[in-house]
Amino acid sequence: MRPIRDMWFIQIEVTNACNMSCANCTRFVGHHKKPFFMELPMIEKAIDSLEGYKGCIGIMGGEPTMHPDFLGICQIVQKKIPEYKRGLWTSGFKWKEYEPIIRKTFGERVVYNDHSVGNQVHQPLLVAINDCIEDKNFMWGLINKCWVQRRWSASITPRGGFFCEVAAAMNMLFEDEEGYPIENRWWNKTSKQFKDQIKKYCPNCGAALPMLAVSNKGPKDMVSITNYRRLEAIRSPKFLKGDIEIFDKKMTRENIKMVMKNWKPWEYLGEDGQRSKERLYCSINSRAVKAFRYSLIRHIRQRCGDVKRKISRWLQRHK
Ligand code: SF4
Repeated sequence: MRPIRDMWFIQIEVTNACNMSCANCTRFVGHHKKPFFMELPMIEKAIDSLEGYKGCIGIMGGEPTMHPDFLGICQIVQKKIPEYKRGLWTSGFKWKEYEPIIRKTFGERVVYNDHSVGNQVHQPLLVAINDCIEDKNFMWGLINKCWVQRRWSASITPRGGFFCEVAAAMNMLFEDEEGYPIENRWWNKTSKQFKDQIKKYCPNCGAALPMLAVSNKGPKDMVSITNYRRLEAIRSPKFLKGDIEIFDKKMTRENIKMVMKNWKPWEYLGEDGQRSKERLYCSINSRAVKAFRYSLIRHIRQRCGDVKRKISRWLQRHK
């Protein structure tokens, strides 16, 4: 797995409240008795703990604009995070109300993450890979190549630091032991150093299990038996409403090889969603990507310039 320090982003999850209620949500919206809202001092502490981290710092949810002090969060971001390292993930909820402060704080580094359009799909994360694969060596081989951990980010929640955003969301849902304490350089870990979290969260997660993704529109989450029991134990509101569907199949290497041929779980938008995104948001999204790249390149050039200047000053002094 990728070391946390090599990830391109670490997210600060300021809330898990959301205006949507997608099936198979990556933050398990609908299963919590009440959402959390990260306190502002904790947000400052989270940002301070990332001093020295080379990647960017994202503000994410849930839907971050649902935080009751979203303006306060923007002020902290402006004060504490260099411009080139800031990012916001939003579905555009409250865009009209907050656009000026979002533009001032994040510039073009705003990633639109709207799950309401088209026929989007989600990988069922509550289907535990450990329930479905009997060959455990094979299972760990799949986990070690998990696409979420390779493509996305580590995360900070009010319960600490996590090597993976889905692991962080599982921790928040099942309220087990806390994540890594948010202290200076907590993120400076190789994959060996966060093996404890890998062992704890990955076997109960479905991200690395190649299976066809399902629509995010239905009310029901797909769950396997282990997570069924865990949801029952915490009296999840969605579980109590019966909005779950049991998945109890065992999968062999052969089944999985077949699925893997066409398996691209990161393409969750579906055709309609992709078209809609292109029509509505793609220009803004690609601007956001360019903005990230541009500001990183500008920063690297600036740093190289500083080093060159220091070397030439040193050479002049030692002529
Ligand atoms: S298997 Fe799940 S918890 Fe483990 S890295 Fe992948 S997404 Fe995260």
